[in-house]
Formats: sequence, structure tokens, C-alpha cells
Amino acid sequence: MSATASGPVPFTGADYAARRARALAQATAAGYDGLLVAPGPDLHYLTGYLPIAITERLTLLVLRAGADPIMILPILERGDAERAPGTGGIALIDWADGQDPFAAIAPSIDGAARYAISDTAWALQVLGVQEALPGVHLTAMTHALPMLRAVKDAAEIARLAAAGAAADACFEALLLVRFSGRSENDVAADLAQMLLDHGHSQVDFTVVGSGPNGANPHHEAGPRIIEQGDMVVLDFGGLKDGYGSDTSRTVHVGGAPTSEEVEVHDLVRRAQQAGFEAVRPGATCQDVDRAARAVISAAGYGDRFLHRTGHGIGTTTHEPPYMVEGEEQPLLPGMAFSIEPGVYLADRFGVRIEDIVVVGEDGMGRRMNTTNRELQFVG
Ligand code: ZN
Ligand code: ZN
Ligand code: ZN
Repeated sequence: MSATASGPVPFTGADYAARRARALAQATAAGYDGLLVAPGPDLHYLTGYLPIAITERLTLLVLRAGADPIMILPILERGDAERAPGTGGIALIDWADGQDPFAAIAPSIDGAARYAISDTAWALQVLGVQEALPGVHLTAMTHALPMLRAVKDAAEIARLAAAGAAADACFEALLLVRFSGRSENDVAADLAQMLLDHGHSQVDFTVVGSGPNGANPHHEAGPRIIEQGDMVVLDFGGLKDGYGSDTSRTVHVGGAPTSEEVEVHDLVRRAQQAGFEAVRPGATCQDVDRAARAVISAAGYGDRFLHRTGHGIGTTTHEPPYMVEGEEQPLLPGMAFSIEPGVYLADRFGVRIEDIVVVGEDGMGRRMNTTNRELQFVG
């Protein structure tokens, strides 16, 4: 599917400049003088530039309050950087193999300043900056500006919605494939192909957790042959037009679930609904976790819900904000995150139900995944 035919409207140079201005305002408000941005999701978000190969060679965007943005990069990558959609307003400083890029960039970095630096900067690069500028103070981006990419604009939300709809179409298609007698790996391969067929450019995970494997939240897929009577946790996603999908449903193989399977599934469904309903004006991230967890704890399964309730999603499939006890960040319009409670019964089965939810301008949640959350049956 071509991006020009039916894909999203591309982000413009003005979009990226606005993001950089907002990032600097956030940094100033948090007591930092600027940002040092390394290749990875932060650089992509702020400039549209994603180096083809991320290597030991230094690429670093320097954003300082009151100064024009500059980016140092290897001379061999200058053409690629110039063609990126959001680098137009950035002065590019190139360096050639054999030169010291840290000495070249040092005059552009206030050596006594406090910077937030991308989590994806390599130790080699962090230490290089510190050696060149011993007085500089660096803090990891996740700690300094955790919400840098958390609030999505309308164009980003449109991409998340399209990715979610594509993932939902995969789930509908998956309900029609054979499970019993095939391995988890076989079903996972079907799922990966479906994600690609539905416009994903990248498959990040295809969890098929059958029977006892479903009780391990980190199980991906393996050689186990799926049997009649199994519960199967399905959790899958990837990137479509640069933005992530991530949804989970738990299905039953054959039409005769036990009463316990039905009860635990319904419990998780109700917990997921409670988490969704907690998204409202004035709520914080931990309120979403508490709402979902309260349902599961009240039924006596609190110690079987082994993880936080959710994570943010955007150009990566795991990023702030996290729906976890202790996270007092208020939910803001434009935030996008998963709500994915689960119950894991060791050696028996697990249930997880997950939707991506976006906070609307009215402060209420809007699901990006809308497939049936009741227990579904497969053959
Ligand atoms: Zn069963
Ligand atoms: Zn997931
Ligand atoms: Zn997730």
C-alpha cells in the first residue's frame, strides 16, 4: 500500500519545528538548559531523521534554549540528513573519519549546562561528551523529560487508529485459522504475515501462549502443539506508517470452556473495562492501574496479576506514560497507552485483554481496538 495513495498526510518541517519548540519549553520548565538527542525515537520525533545505520559514529542534535538548533553528523550521512523532512531549520555540522567529533561539537554545547540526553545514546557517546566537557550535567531523557513524546497530535493519533484497525482486522482473520493440532509457532507465523498483509511495515511481537504457556506473561511462541480445550493468549503488534499497534485477546480452542476459564476471562474483561472507564478528566496514570487491579483483587486473583496495567505507545511500542502504581502523571488529551490487565495461573493458563486507548480532548478514553472482548472460540 503506497503512502501517497491512502496513507497518512506526511509530517511537515513546521510540525517538527513545533515539536522542538515544545521539547525546549518542557526542558526549561523541568530545569534543564537543553536536550542532546541521539539517533532513535527522540531524533526521529524531533527531526524526521532516522539514520539508516546507527553506528559508533557520532550523530547528535543539540537543542538549547535561546540558540539555534545544530546537529553534528558523519559527513557520509549528510545527504540523508538533509533529505529528512524536519531538518530544514537545523544547522548541520559534519565530521570526517579521523576527526574528533566531540571536539567539533563542544563549542556548541554550553559546558556548564544541564542537558537531558536520549536514552538511546551509546555509553561511548555519553562518555565522549563528558570527556570533552567535564562540567556538563547529563540526565537520561526518561528521567528528565519522560513525557517528551507522550502527548500525540491529531496526525499521530490518526496513525495509531489506523495501526489499531489493521491489528483488529488481523484478529478477525485469526479467528478463522486452525489452532488445534498446530504449533504456537505456526499460528504466530500466520499472525506475522497477516500484520504485514494489513499494512504493517514491521512486526514487533506475535505472542501465542497456549495452555500453560499463557501463564507466562513473557512467553512469545514455541513448538508446543495447541490442543482442544486450551486457552490461548494472543498479543501482537508492530509498526504501520511509523506508529505502533498492540492488542491482546484470549481465545478458547473448541466450544466447551470450563466454568473457571469463563470466570477468569470475564474477570479480566471487567478489569479491562474498569481501567478504560478510569480514563476521565483529572485522572492520573496510577488511577487506571488501580481501577483495573481492584477488580482482579476483589475476586481473589490480585497476586496473579503480575505486571503493570499499561504502557504508552507511539513510534515505539513501549514508552511513557506507564499505567502503574506510583505514577502520578495526570492523563492529558492526546496521550496513548495500553490497558492490558491479565491473570496468570501457573502451569495452567493465562488471560490477557488489551486495547490501546487515546485520551480525547474531553478527557475521556477512546479505544483504538474494538474487536469483541467476550471469550471467542477457535477451531
Ligand atoms: Zn478449556
Ligand atoms: Zn501487547
Ligand atoms: Zn502492550
